[in-house]
Amino acid sequence: PPLKIVVCGGGNGAHVFSTLAATRANTDVSVLTIFEDEAERWTKSMKDGVMVSFTAASNQVKSRPSLVTKDPAAVIPRADVIAVVVPSYAHAPVLQAILPFCRPNTFIVGLPAHAGFDFQFTHIFGSKAKECTLAVFETLPWACRIIEYGAHAQVLGTKERVGAALLQGENSNVPFDCIATLQQLIGDKPKLKMVQNSLVVNLMAKTMIHPPIMYGKWRNWDGKPVKQKPLFYQGMDDAQADLLTRVSDEVLLISQTVKDKCNKIVLDISPITHIQDWIKEYYGDQVKDGSSLKLSFQTNQAYNGLVHPLKDAEDGGYVPDFSYRYVREDVPFGLVVLKGIAEIVDVSTPAMDTVISWAQEKLGAEYIVGAELKGRDLSQTRAPQVFGIQTVDQLMLSN
Ligand code: NAD
Repeated sequence: PPLKIVVCGGGNGAHVFSTLAATRANTDVSVLTIFEDEAERWTKSMKDGVMVSFTAASNQVKSRPSLVTKDPAAVIPRADVIAVVVPSYAHAPVLQAILPFCRPNTFIVGLPAHAGFDFQFTHIFGSKAKECTLAVFETLPWACRIIEYGAHAQVLGTKERVGAALLQGENSNVPFDCIATLQQLIGDKPKLKMVQNSLVVNLMAKTMIHPPIMYGKWRNWDGKPVKQKPLFYQGMDDAQADLLTRVSDEVLLISQTVKDKCNKIVLDISPITHIQDWIKEYYGDQVKDGSSLKLSFQTNQAYNGLVHPLKDAEDGGYVPDFSYRYVREDVPFGLVVLKGIAEIVDVSTPAMDTVISWAQEKLGAEYIVGAELKGRDLSQTRAPQVFGIQTVDQLMLSN
């Protein structure tokens, strides 16, 4: 029988992944979107199928999920693979919606996971987590966007490689090869690079890039609309490069300290690289001048034309959009998780603290007080402490 795949989500990534997966041999793909009236809109709109076009290769594929529904009971009980493809602030409602219908030996995928997905999944699924196998992805394989809802999505870029880890529940015995299946569903590119542990995926994710850049650009903003759209990565100045370097130094120090203090396993932290090395390794020849971090960002052709997240101002011009994922996701589901891990291993993080303190104010939240994670809204984040994780050994969920 065909492998039954349920894609949970109704946004950009869900359009692309469900369409690609449905083109593979021997698959039956359905889409579950619990959000607003998306299931109805998608069903109405797709008619003969959903198209995914690849701008770089100027080609396209078309296929059709067998069902798009908002009812978990209609699809989850027979799912072999459940891919959760929504922004991290939607992970909890999606996991809660599917939990009652999820059968043992289901393979669940956080595509992408964002930091702390493993902690949250284990917490929400409770004893059922032991019966499932989880895969967490460091990022989405594609840069993509919907062109016409339920009908057409565009892939602007495909990553060469993407890091992922498996977290196998102790009673879980998925009856197929999880990694080979994932690779088949995604296609030849990106190549899955399996890492040892979901904690490593949390520490290697490069969502730590965006908040320092936002902070550097807007911390002294006077509140007046700007006339032009400022470049995001290529607009990097010395202060932003310096802050990003220090945040990256802190991530490496946290990682090394976790490794040193870990009694359970020899943690392989080699996939966690400094931003300075990562940008060269990741973008290769597209970086025209790699002599400094600032110049690597400024001259990376892959960043051509990418601007800051902005909203139109009422009387013309633009104002920064602090509700965009670079802050809304990458702080509570990114930096704050790293900060939480840092507290567990007693590493101080002044650079991260500076960014978190600024960002939380923009989000109207409080995660950190001084240098301590004890703000009133901490429970809205995925810091490990929120899930009762207090020790290095507890961080190693998969072992
Ligand atoms: P998206 O913005 O298209 O997702 C929005 C969708 O999420 C909605 O359409 C809805 O289906 C769902 N959703 C939102 N709020 C919800 C709620 N409260 N309850 C249930 N469902 C809800 O997201 P995307 O572009 O597909 O990205 C998915 C993830 O991948 C994000 O974490 C994003 O940061 C990351 N990512 C995206 C890209 C990209 O190019 N799109 C690139 C890199 C990383």
